[in-house]
Amino acid sequence: MPRPSKKSRSLRRIHVKTPGGRTTVHYKYRKPKAAKCSCGAVLKGIVRERPYKMKKIAKTKKRPTRPYGGVLCSRCLRKMLVEKARNK
Ligand SMILES: [Zn+2]
Repeated sequence: MPRPSKKSRSLRRIHVKTPGGRTTVHYKYRKPKAAKCSCGAVLKGIVRERPYKMKKIAKTKKRPTRPYGGVLCSRCLRKMLVEKARNK
């Protein structure tokens, strides 16, 4: 039986095969939802991790290195840039 705190469904259950051949259950926190653009599209190239893991990952590995990378999707960025160029 797992300890009572591990019975929570907010924890993910991962079946891990041990070197001895047994399968045991490991409990891990669920990953946060994927980052989204203002248009609703899921942002690609964005790391889905908890804050304590995000701290360990390099900034360049967390989001695309372009203007508004990690904020706008590529389609919205392109639209915005065209719009900006028109208004000048
Ligand atoms: Zn968008």
